[in-house]
Amino acid sequence: MSQQYPPYIWHNGKIKPWAEATTHVMAHALHYGSSVFEGIRSYPTPKGQAIFRLTDHLKRLFHSAKIYDMPMPFDVPALAQASREVIKANKLDRAYLRPVAFRGLGGFGLSAETPTDVAVAAWEMGPYLGAGVLEAGIDACVSSWQRFAPNTIPAGAKAGGNYLSGQLVAREARRLGFGEGIALASTGLLSEGAGENLFLVFDGALHTSPVSAALLNGITRNTIITLARDNSIGVVERDIPREYLYLCDELFMCGTAAEITPIRSVDGKPVGAGKPGPLTAKIQELFFGLFSGKTPDKYGWLEPV
Ligand code: PMP
Repeated sequence: MSQQYPPYIWHNGKIKPWAEATTHVMAHALHYGSSVFEGIRSYPTPKGQAIFRLTDHLKRLFHSAKIYDMPMPFDVPALAQASREVIKANKLDRAYLRPVAFRGLGGFGLSAETPTDVAVAAWEMGPYLGAGVLEAGIDACVSSWQRFAPNTIPAGAKAGGNYLSGQLVAREARRLGFGEGIALASTGLLSEGAGENLFLVFDGALHTSPVSAALLNGITRNTIITLARDNSIGVVERDIPREYLYLCDELFMCGTAAEITPIRSVDGKPVGAGKPGPLTAKIQELFFGLFSGKTPDKYGWLEPV
């Protein structure tokens, strides 16, 4: 992230200057990847700025902490309040929020009971995979790196250490000149992007891999499944072999950072017509419509700042 840092950050209970939110080099998390985190976006809406599915993201943070027995010194309402405060303190209007909880300084053993440090950062963020990608789409490749096998590193936790896998996938893709990498599970079946879930379109229906395919149960993925079903668009969760990436009519990635990014080719082969297709555009319209007010917020997903 080569960027200007915002002036303030929330750290262990209070808003402080960005530069003061430091930790020791011997913090457990730095050595062992023992952190859990979230990525959340806020959007301007006709009713004021809203944090999208803030509570659901914070619940997932606590689920990740539960898997790793990480005691959380703040509860969901306190971190929701922290999220609002850090947006306000930095006067942001289209923010990416990054709550993180990690094992701090207090022991070197793998099972050390260290204190948990918690921070919530926020900064302005546009499209994650580059300017214009939401319209034009990206070229993706299947990574030579597979995702971790079941019952090794739990894919259902959004933990810092998981992103070693994501870094291998994303860095290889960039090195080869692709916009993003797609990983297969240890089964050889389709898993997900480096930091995004995937949807394939066949005959007007959405197909996506199940959570058993070593993927993070994305909140954007769940949003798309819900919006699609509400609009009578078929959704099928099923095992997907790699070659169906080349055979589908349309393909897109989704995630809080990536939002809904069309994929126009995989491994140099065009997806469908080689440009974003009509169902991808429809899903984008429904998703971004939540923030313009065109899609009704039936589920209370827009949480006011
Ligand atoms: N998979 C991975 C590995 C991710 O890092 C993310 C981003 N959090 C996603 C999927 C998408 O999840 P969400 O829609 O909840 O942001």
